[in-house]
Amino acid sequence: MLRRYIVLVLLALLTSPLGTALAKDYVVRKIIDGHTVQLESGETVRYIGVATPELNRKEGGAEFYARQAVGYNKRLVFMKKVRLEFDTKKKDEKGNLLAYVFVKKTFVNAELIRNGYARADVSGPNVKHRNTLLEAERRAKADDRGIWSEKKEDTEKHYVGNKRTSTFHRPTCKMVEKIPEKSRIIFHNRSDAIKIGYVPCKICKP
Ligand SMILES: [Zn+2]
Repeated sequence: MLRRYIVLVLLALLTSPLGTALAKDYVVRKIIDGHTVQLESGETVRYIGVATPELNRKEGGAEFYARQAVGYNKRLVFMKKVRLEFDTKKKDEKGNLLAYVFVKKTFVNAELIRNGYARADVSGPNVKHRNTLLEAERRAKADDRGIWSEKKEDTEKHYVGNKRTSTFHRPTCKMVEKIPEKSRIIFHNRSDAIKIGYVPCKICKP
């Protein structure tokens, strides 16, 4: 009877929100991109709330700062023992684990954002550390770190953004005519585009 009770308690713990907070150590054996890694177990982990620039894009190649983000992520976690913390939604559509990652006392998700290697993406449902990540982004912007550092003068009267790929172009770029009307967005200066996460096209280099 007692044993049965213990089993029930354990089961309850494991399936409760408290259970998801129980920490366990993992080792990162492969860096996939600025916000995705693979563990020794073969499982893939995607960092919650972290949007690093994309490495492989059909339009215009790697985003500004994408490679730097991968390098920094590697420095933080590669072959290190990490602690994973989960939130409401534990896996994404591709079966990747969604987690907050810690190396000793370093909160890796926030660290990437704080140093300008990523934007905060706190659209939910995983919002446990929402405020910490937003604060990290606010500070990175204030200090012009990484992706927020690129400062160039406006040389065009306006720029054309593609809402689907979050890229922006000079109005004369040949890519512009390929953007469907409903995906277009006009920016009057480049900083407006960059502030909301748009990156310059690698072809027309606006
Ligand atoms: Zn372009």
